[in-house]
Amino acid sequence: MPLSRQESERYSRQLIVPGIGLRGQAKLKNASVLVAGAGGLGGVVLAYLAAAGVGRLGFADPGLLELSNLNRQIFYKTRDLGRAKVRLLASFLKDLNPRVRLEPLRLKLDSENLAPLLKKYGLVADCTDNFEARFELNKACVRAGRTLVHGAVYGFEGQLAVIAPRGGPCLKCVFPHMPPRLKGYTPAPGPAPGAIGAMQAAEVIKIICGLPHLRGRLVIYDFAHGAAHSVRLKRRRACGVCGKRDEG
Ligand SMILES: [Zn+2]
Repeated sequence: MPLSRQESERYSRQLIVPGIGLRGQAKLKNASVLVAGAGGLGGVVLAYLAAAGVGRLGFADPGLLELSNLNRQIFYKTRDLGRAKVRLLASFLKDLNPRVRLEPLRLKLDSENLAPLLKKYGLVADCTDNFEARFELNKACVRAGRTLVHGAVYGFEGQLAVIAPRGGPCLKCVFPHMPPRLKGYTPAPGPAPGAIGAMQAAEVIKIICGLPHLRGRLVIYDFAHGAAHSVRLKRRRACGVCGKRDEG
């Protein structure tokens, strides 16, 4: 479907990116992405995906806006404290790009609601802030055959990975055990989730457009020292999530 004159102008700077062009833009328009979490990572991922013209965006978070969110969740406003984050984010995203279909979901994702939800979306971004939620999402994505773009931040360290659905490795291959429970809140200096969220959005856009991406690799960013390193992930044959399924 050709772009309208307004769309051609809105997306003009990305239409000239090698590998995107009109074909990539059409793919973005036809794409649907589910973003798990509407915090520091999720808000940034959603803002860039809406701005890029991804056709349909679902986003799930049960939370209300708190004062302690605002050092990093810069798309919210101080006057909106106490209001549902997904509603606030929907309003922000609608103003940013009214053409994108928004599906705010005020709920906590779990094993029951994920299965039917994943049928409605082509791709998933993991912007959760705890391992229980990440593992649940990983398992549901492996079962549903959905690619998972994982992002996480702890203090000045961030990580990014693309978990492809078939053939592994999955997130549970990389982190077979639940890490020891950390006391208190996750330290999060604002720019760290901002940068990792932007990188997650870039991976999503590349996957949709059919460009080379981080499949099967984990990139770790050390913001404290300005360093990054990338490791190829290995599948664990005994993995309880992706192992049996592929071998059986
Ligand atoms: Zn696995």
